[in-house]
Amino acid sequence: MNKQKKNYNKLSDAQKIDAFAQMLADAQHAVFLGGAGVSTESGIPDFRSKNGLYHRKRGRFSKYRPEYLLSYECLKKEPEIFFDYYRSNLDVRNVEPNAAHFSLAELERQGSLIGVITQNIDGLHQKAGSINVQEIHGTIWGNHCISCGTRYPASYIFESPEKVPGCEKCGKTVRPDVTLYGEFLPEKAYQNAIKMIREADLLIIGGTSLEVGSAAQLAHMYHGQNLVIINKGKTKMTGKADLVFRKSIGEVLQSVLS
Ligand code: NAD
Repeated sequence: MNKQKKNYNKLSDAQKIDAFAQMLADAQHAVFLGGAGVSTESGIPDFRSKNGLYHRKRGRFSKYRPEYLLSYECLKKEPEIFFDYYRSNLDVRNVEPNAAHFSLAELERQGSLIGVITQNIDGLHQKAGSINVQEIHGTIWGNHCISCGTRYPASYIFESPEKVPGCEKCGKTVRPDVTLYGEFLPEKAYQNAIKMIREADLLIIGGTSLEVGSAAQLAHMYHGQNLVIINKGKTKMTGKADLVFRKSIGEVLQSVLS
C-alpha cells in the first residue's frame, strides 16, 4: 500500500469515516468479509474477545476445548455432548440483527456493496435484508440426515426430545448444516466467496480475528484497491489495511451510511 493511503490512519475519526465513504463511492465492487464480531452487538458472543466463548466458564463442558465441541470428531465420538453443547449455545433463532447487519443490507440495497461473505452461522445478515450472503461456515437454519440427506428445519434439532436426533426416514443422526471443525467448507459458498474477493476493488473486513484459516486465506486472496478493517481487536491483516477502525462495527457502518 502506498504512503498516502497509510496516512489515512492519522486522520480524525470523522475524517476517516469520510475517507471510507469516498472509498465506497469510488468502488465498483465492494465486498464485506465478516465474522462473529458482527453479531456481538446482537448479544451473540464471539470466540476470542474478553467476553467470548473461549474465556467464559463452560460449566459441564469445561473439560472440552470450544473447537472440539463444534468438531466433526465430537459429533462422531460423543454425539450426546455435541448436541447438548449445540442446543445450549447455538440456538440463536430469536436473536435480532443489529446496526452492522442493517447497514450492510442497506449498502447492498443502494448498490454500494456487492455482498457479504460471512463465517457466521446465525443467519442475521439475511434477517436484516442482505441478499447476496455467502455463508462459508454453513448455518444453523437447516439440518440434514448424515445418511439419506433428508432435510429438516432448525427446530428439528433444537426442539427434539432425543439426545441425538434421528432421521424419521432412516433412523440415522440428523445434524446441522454448520461446517464443523475438521470438515471441508461448503463448496458453492466458498467458490462464490473466492470469486467475489478476486473481483473486489474494496474489501471491508469486520468483526473477525482472522484466526480461522479459511477466512484468513480469503483475505489474502484480495488484491484490490482499498482494504478497510473494522475490528476492536488486532487482526493479522491490520498492518496491511488502508483504513483501520478499532471500534464498534455497528457504529462505524452506521456512520458511513449517514
Ligand atoms: P473471533 O471471536 O475469533 O473474532 C471476533 C473479532 O471481532 C475479535 O477480534 C473482536 O475484537 C472483534 N469484535 C467483537 N465484537 C466487535 C464489535 N462489536 N465491533 C467490532 N469488532 C468486534 O471470531 P471469528 O474470527 O469470526 O472466528 C470464530 C469462528 O466461530 C468463526 O467461524 C465464527 O463464525 C464462529 N462463530 C460464529 C458465531 C455466530 O454465528 N454469531 C459466534 C461465535 C463464533
